[in-house]
This record gives sequence, C-alpha cells and structure tokens, in this order.
Amino acid sequence: MKTLCVLGSTGSIGVSTLDIVRRFPDRYRVRSLTAGANVEKLAEQVAEFKPARVAIADKTKFNAVKERLKDYKGELLAGADALCELAAEPESNYVVSAIVGAAGLMPTLSALKQGKQVGIANKEPLVMCGPLMQAAAEKSGATILPIDSEHSAVFQSARAGNRGEMRKIVLTASGGPFRKADKEFMRTATREQALKHPTWNMGAKITIDSATLMNKALEIIEAHFLFGLPYEAIEVWVHPQSIVHALVEFSDSSVVAQLGLPDMRLPILYALTYPDRVDGGLPALPIEKMAALNFEPPDHDRFPSLKFAYKAGKLGGTAPAVLNAANEVAVQLFLDGKIHFSEIFDRVGATLDAHEVKPMDRLETVLAADAWARTYAAKQGVK
Ligand code: NAD
Ligand code: MG
Repeated sequence: MKTLCVLGSTGSIGVSTLDIVRRFPDRYRVRSLTAGANVEKLAEQVAEFKPARVAIADKTKFNAVKERLKDYKGELLAGADALCELAAEPESNYVVSAIVGAAGLMPTLSALKQGKQVGIANKEPLVMCGPLMQAAAEKSGATILPIDSEHSAVFQSARAGNRGEMRKIVLTASGGPFRKADKEFMRTATREQALKHPTWNMGAKITIDSATLMNKALEIIEAHFLFGLPYEAIEVWVHPQSIVHALVEFSDSSVVAQLGLPDMRLPILYALTYPDRVDGGLPALPIEKMAALNFEPPDHDRFPSLKFAYKAGKLGGTAPAVLNAANEVAVQLFLDGKIHFSEIFDRVGATLDAHEVKPMDRLETVLAADAWARTYAAKQGVK
C-alpha cells in the first residue's frame, strides 16, 4: 500500500493523479493533500479522499478553508512551511510533486531528504538545482520518478539498455499554438491565443511555456540532470501529434521510443506503479492515430527559448535557476496583460545575459540567484 502526499492536488497534474488513485483503492491511500489557493477544489477532494492532513499554502485562505471544511475531522494547516511538513512526515511514503514553479522546491526537497519515493511533475525545481535534489535523494535513499511525459518516456525507453548505453535523447514538442504563426503575429499574440494548446490540457503557466517552447527549454535541462547525458546529446524535434513522447538512441544505433495518447494519467500511472505496469483502464492508443507522425526541426529564430536552455545549461551553476526565475516572472507579466508575448523572450534573454554565474554549491546560492533574476526580469524596460 502506498500512502500518498499530493503536493498541488488541485492543479491539472494533481487532479489527474487523484483520478488514478480513485481507480486503485487497494493500492493507494491519500494521507495528505496540499493546494496553493483553490479552496473549493481542495474541499471537494478532501470530502472524497478523506486525507488525515491538509494544507493550503496561501495563509489568507485559511479561514475560508476552515469554514468550507467545518465537519472535517483531520488536521488543517496553512503556509509554505506546512507543505514541507506534510511532504516530510513519515506517515506518507510516496510524494507526488505537482506544484507549479519554484514554489515546489522546498516541499519536494523535504520529501527527498526523507528517503521517500517522489514522482516529480514539477520540473522547475529540477531545472533550478537538479544536482542538489539528486544529492539529497542519494543521501537519504529517496527515488525520483519522472512524471513529465517526455522524461517518463526516456525513463521507460532507457530500460531497453544498460546504464551508459544511451547515446542520444530526443525530446518531442507539440510546437504549441504558434507552431505556424509568423513572427509579427506572435509579437502581440493575446493571452487567449497563447492559452489554446493544440494537444494537451494543462495549467496556465506550462501552457504559455508550451507556446514559447520554454517548456521544452526547461525539459532539456531537466533531462540533462535526470539522465546525465551532455547537452550535445539532447535534441528537440517538433512532433505535432504528441504521440511519440521521446526517443532514445542507444550505442548500437537502435532507437527505442515510448508512444501513447497525450494523457498525463499515463506517465503518472507509470510513476506510481514502477517498476510494474498495471492496467488502469486508460484508453489505448488507436493504431490509426499513427497514420501520419511528423517530425520537424524547431524554428530557433521564432522560438529562441531552446538557445537559452543550451546556453544556461552549458554555463551551468546558477544559470538554469536564473533562466527559470526570469521565465516565471515574464510569464506572469504576460498572463497579467502587462507585456507582449515576445517580451517573454526579451526578458528571459536579457536576464540570462546580465547574470554573473556562480557555482551551484549550496541551496542558498540557488535561492539568491532565483531572487536576483526575479527582480531583474521584473524591471520596466528590460529588453
Ligand atoms: P496547475 O497550475 O494546474 O496546478 C498547480 C498546483 O500548484 C495547484 O494545485 C496550485 O494550487 C498549486 N500551487 C500554485 N502555486 C502554489 C504555491 N505558491 N505554493 C503551493 N502550491 C501552489 O499546474 P499543472 O499544469 O498541474 O503543472 C504542475 C507542474 O507539473 C508544473 O511544474 C508543470 O510544468 C508540470 N507538468 C505539468 C503537465 C500538465 O499536463 N499539466 C505536464 C508535465 C509537467
Ligand atoms: Mg513535458
């Protein structure tokens, strides 16, 4: 029996995780749920899954949660520290990391320090300080299981060979809503246009990241940290059907890929049941869906994000954390209607250029770089 702590249970990944849990009452029990600020969704989930402990990160929502959950017999907590406490407590042995952005770093790290199994969808902390998270896992005996679909695909494909036999990783990208848009259209694209993802249904931040290809940029760094291949051996190809999630080329030139419908419940299920495969009643991939599978090289001129990722990745140290923080700020400014779409690229690029890279020796160094990048990227007139 796995006892779960779901960090970010009210989001897109959180909801899909609970959909899997619901299918296996004998395998999984929900020990704790955490949300950012969504009181209503959290209350519905508490009523259904009856966790012993619940936390909401936004303290201003605490009274609303208490009011909404008057009859709840478990423990209600509020604040960012409460999330770390629930992630770390020994009563759960599996943590699903599904908070969006850097806010997930401390709770995820808390779980890793306690030697738990941790299914990670929340890629931003891995980008910020993957090596520190891995070191924490190694020290405690924790296991990191990738949930991001491309990384789950690499993880699954990697089982076809031995350690050290992977020569190249190809991450696929849907191309997002602006795959065919011209540069001028993209410059002033609206929030609504950018939020219209062609194949995946996800939270707002990652949907914008898919429109800029920054999601794939973050995934390049995530793959480097998770699988240890050099940046030269990690490629991105645009694959509009989102059926082939990643391909792995082995040392004998054989290529193994993982395919499936674009449904995050598949990688979530695998992260939960690994190393087994279990029938979760999810829809199978109809073969006719593969009548045409296309792969195109990404357009680096319209989507400079990938260049930023290779630059930050090769610089190493605090550079990936800066890339991530600048992007989080720029995406929020765009979602708030304060900057044009293409200014996301301008701000991220300018912040990366202005950063003095430091070695990623300690968490404090990473957090300082993150804070610096947030201030820099938020400044008016950054181009
Ligand atoms: P979402 O916006 O739908 O949900 C985010 C969750 O985090 C919510 O429960 C929210 O309440 C919580 N949260 C937000 N801010 C918080 C804060 N400051 N403190 C604590 N909790 C907070 O996001 P999502 O689409 O589910 O994505 C979650 C993570 O998974 C992201 O890192 C994303 O890149 C990654 N991911 C998502 C998908 C997908 O299909 N949605 C696929 C691959 C990877
Ligand atoms: Mg992905």
